[in-house]
Amino acid sequence: MSHATRFSLSQSDIPTHWYNLLSDLPEPLPPPLHPGTKQPVPPEALLAIFPENLVQQEMSPDRWIEIPGPVREIYSLWRPTPLLRAVRFEKALQTPAHIYYKYEGVSPAGSHKVNTSVAQAYFNKVAGTRRLASETGAGQWGSSLAMACQLFGLECTVYMVKVSHQQKPYRRMLMETWGAQVHPSPSDQTEYGRAVLKQEPECAGSLGIAISEAIQDTITHPHTKYSLGSVLNHVCLHQTVIGQETMKQMELAGEEPDTLIGCAGGGSNFAGLVFPFVRRKITEKKNYRIVAVEPTACPSMTQGQLRYDFGDTAEQTPLLMMYTLGHSFMPPPIHAGGLRYHGMSPLVSHLLKLGLIEAEAYHQTEVFESGTLFARTEGIVPAPEAAHAIHAAVQEAVRARQDGRKRVILFNLSGHGLLDLSAYEGYLAGKLNGV
Ligand SMILES: *Cc1c(COP(=O)(O)O)cnc(C)c1O
Repeated sequence: MSHATRFSLSQSDIPTHWYNLLSDLPEPLPPPLHPGTKQPVPPEALLAIFPENLVQQEMSPDRWIEIPGPVREIYSLWRPTPLLRAVRFEKALQTPAHIYYKYEGVSPAGSHKVNTSVAQAYFNKVAGTRRLASETGAGQWGSSLAMACQLFGLECTVYMVKVSHQQKPYRRMLMETWGAQVHPSPSDQTEYGRAVLKQEPECAGSLGIAISEAIQDTITHPHTKYSLGSVLNHVCLHQTVIGQETMKQMELAGEEPDTLIGCAGGGSNFAGLVFPFVRRKITEKKNYRIVAVEPTACPSMTQGQLRYDFGDTAEQTPLLMMYTLGHSFMPPPIHAGGLRYHGMSPLVSHLLKLGLIEAEAYHQTEVFESGTLFARTEGIVPAPEAAHAIHAAVQEAVRARQDGRKRVILFNLSGHGLLDLSAYEGYLAGKLNGV
């Protein structure tokens, strides 16, 4: 073989700590506000829905937070994940660029989301929680949480956006196989769900509505806490195992990336890959170009406003300072279900405001074109979300072809698309609309 293409670490290389970017920010992050008083939310106010240990992580000033042994043990079922160089993809693109990808699709649930679901289930378990409630769009987060709850002996209830519940049965089956209870949202299980159904019996649901239902469920049931799969600081924190492993693997490859790319729905897989590199950018003045990629159909960073907004449709969450399209925004039904959120992680939003990262948006048809080329050259069928990162990498690789300058491109392949094949079927049949 002319090039090494796979850079593997051993189990002892699983990081021992998560990296907390809050500790290195050049400007502090604007705090979450209480919607009534417009004052910063005191930590106690969050205890109704989150356990104290996770609230502490959400606001912690510590740079490194130790990963508990039982969490590392479960991580070792699939971590460290591989870093690969996409030599066949490079060749197909006729680019002098070297393209590397970190592959999170090797996890049991098929994406990066288990990095935080396992951590959240563990911290809830030790805090005495018996049941977790959450929402899911296409089912990636719900299935990740279902698996983690099962491994730690917690009950799990998931509100799944109704249109996905009907159209994407496989992740619902996965959740049920891992022992979760799944309700199509809007549901008759919560006051808010019933109110929506009364107004609009055929409502197809949205992530914002499902979040509202999961929070109401939490508040009205004993021993129950709420769990969120993206957006919040502690979720981004748990994902930083991705970037830390990648740094070691790039050393094995003997290269340093100059362009780092991740797709961004709520921002967590992007954060997980890039935050450890952002640290170097801040503290060592490294000159990385770091790009968050979103769909043009849900363009929170490229078309939204940076302001305080609610995280859910029913206005139950604290106000978060973030790039947002407005909490009542209803994204069109693109196939990248994980990228259909009206807002963006406050930490990722803050980095964009500070100019430490950039944002790009692409149409789903061009995204599937790049995703399909990737599948045909590298073998892995990417999740539609991850195909956004692939498409941005293609743009950079094409620039390298045009100007002849070598580049080292690194992107996060956040998950596989084996449960999204109907989306590929639509693409191959020329049936994706232009959104
Ligand atoms: C959920 C999901 C995303 C989007 O969520 P982030 O929090 O932005 O990472 C991206 N890729 C995959 C495979 C997902 O399941």
